Amino acid sequence: MTKLVGVLALQGDFEAHAKMLRALGARAREVRVPDDLRDLDALIIPGGESTVMSLGIEREGLAEPLRELVRAGTPVLGTCAGMIMLDRDHLGLLDVIARRNAFGRQVRSFEADIDVKGVSGGPMHAVFIRAPWVAEHGPEVEILGSVEAHPVAIRQGHMLAVSFHPELSGDSRLHELLLAIDGSGE
Ligand code: GLN
Repeated sequence: MTKLVGVLALQGDFEAHAKMLRALGARAREVRVPDDLRDLDALIIPGGESTVMSLGIEREGLAEPLRELVRAGTPVLGTCAGMIMLDRDHLGLLDVIARRNAFGRQVRSFEADIDVKGVSGGPMHAVFIRAPWVAEHGPEVEILGSVEAHPVAIRQGHMLAVSFHPELSGDSRLHELLLAIDGSGE
């Protein structure tokens, strides 16, 4: 069955995610208001600017509906600012603290090949843009990949988060992983 995946589209690079999902045969729906969350099989929170995204989520009354959707077991992937939105200090869905601009503000962007557990076929070519890393995490969080010993790819049950931008490197294996997660709450 074709999965319907919502991409939070308040701000940031949601179009690249939608394109990648469609290339994988899924349907993609841009999410701007709570009603757009209806019937989703999975959700992506893209990169962008976490402060701006937070304001948009507040303005549209999306915080509680997003929490309900993910707490009900809907698989979610947060990338870069999306990882920040899922952490303890924002939507409070992932038991992590993501440190913003953790690699330093000067290092605006870099690329690295990293092995991601659960993604087969060799390392992922990862694009980091003023990226966060996971500074703290609870026991249910599994580290899937790291850069210089800092976690940059994690999984907690049906929730995935990465510090980098898989949608920009043309590598759709994380999106495939998201689509493969059973949405029954794990
Ligand atoms: N630096 C941004 C923030 O803190 C995240 C950057 C990104 O998503 N590429 O929100």
